[in-house]
Order: sequence, then structure tokens, then C-alpha cells
Amino acid sequence: MTTATAEQRSFEADVSRLLHMMVHSVYSDRDVFLRELISNAADACEKLRYEAIAQPELLGEEPKLAITIEADAEAGRLVIADNGIGMSRDEMVEALGTIARSGTRSFMERITAADGKDGAQLIGQFGVGFYSAFMVAAEVEVVSRRAGSDEAWAWSSDGKGEFTVAPVALADAPVRGTRVTLRLMDDAKTYAERRTLERIVKEQSGHVPVSIALVEKPG
Ligand code: ADP
Ligand code: MG
Repeated sequence: MTTATAEQRSFEADVSRLLHMMVHSVYSDRDVFLRELISNAADACEKLRYEAIAQPELLGEEPKLAITIEADAEAGRLVIADNGIGMSRDEMVEALGTIARSGTRSFMERITAADGKDGAQLIGQFGVGFYSAFMVAAEVEVVSRRAGSDEAWAWSSDGKGEFTVAPVALADAPVRGTRVTLRLMDDAKTYAERRTLERIVKEQSGHVPVSIALVEKPG
């Protein structure tokens, strides 16, 4: 069931604690946020590839699966977009905030015992990768349109306890898939520079089975 209005919700307590921890103790290796967002984008493309075996029409007019990273250094903004499976409203709310996912608590126990460096490695392992965006972003917006759906939804949060979900006009959403926009913190502006992004993608996402294009917004 969906409701066509904006709604503000609180993160579950475990998610809030996790976010606090991400920002305050895993700080030493912030580069991992990009690997995590790219890996989610690639997973979404793989899911669509799989669903499209039975339902080829899901690929529609965009049969080529791709990930795009768009950097706007001047605005301090970074966008990671994919044309994969996308999320419905309910999937978004469930995946990004309300339901404390199984990995959350054991991740926090492990990370409390580990130093910062190990913490960064643990993020992916425990399936709490999305939230690592808040290590570098003051605000995160996720706009998504599920393959085959005629509605699109936006999720947004400053990572401080609440998030908002609201409907989005199709004209303002990707044709299919998910667009994650990070408003970078003042001390994380390097993540909107081509040099930094190229280095991290090369170091951490070389094995990703979907093409990754890096585009810079002309200044
Ligand atoms: P994991 O990837 O291990 O499940 P994450 O915290 O990285 O954990 O992501 C949580 C969930 O959010 C994913 O399982 C997926 O359902 C959803 N999600 C995140 N990013 C995307 C995306 N780009 N496209 C579709 N779903 C996504
Ligand atoms: Mg992930």
C-alpha cells in the first residue's frame, strides 16, 4: 500500500545509534562510502538483470545497465545513479531506516571492539553499507523508481534521527533505478573531485560487473 503524501519518520533506535557510530568512530577511512554505494548500485543492476530473464519488458527502452557518478565540485555535490531494479516506497522505507536489519546489532558489537580501520572493513561485511554515506554527507537524498512502476519516491535525511519519504514527479526521477545525491560536508569536499573519485573507484571497485561512468558537471 502506498500513500501519496510526504511523511516524516524516525529511524529505529539501532539505526540511529549505528549512524552516530559511523560518523564518530569509523571516521579513519571514509573512502569506503563510495565502494558501498557503488556496490548497492551494482547489486540493483544484477537484480534487474535476473528479474528481466522472466520479464524482459522490465528493461524497457534502457537495456544497458550502468552506473553513473556525477560530481559537482563547486556545489559540493556527488551523485551515484544506477538504472537497476530501483525501490518502491515500501522497499525504500524498509531498506533505509525503519527496520533494524539483522546485521545492525552484531555490527555495532564488533565495531565497538575494533579500531577505526577494521571498522571500515566491517561496514560492507555486515550489510550496513548505505549508512556509510553519512560519514561524508550532511544530507542524503535517494530518488528511486522501481522497474516497471509508474511512481517514484524520494527519501531524504540528515542522518540525525529522522528521514522523510515523499512522492516525486516522474519527470524529476530516473527513468528506472536509483539516484543517490550527497551534499558533502565541508571537510569532505574532495569527494566531488575527479582525481579523488577516480582513485577510489580504481582502488575499490575494479571488479564491479557493471560499467561505471564518471562525469563532471561543467562549471
Ligand atoms: P546491503 O547492500 O548489504 O543489503 P546496504 O546498507 O548497503 O546493505 O543497503 C541496504 C538496502 O537498501 C539494500 O539491501 C537494498 O535493498 C537497498 N538499496 C540500497 N541502495 C540501493 C540501490 N541503489 N538500488 C536499489 N536498492 C538499494
Ligand atoms: Mg550494500
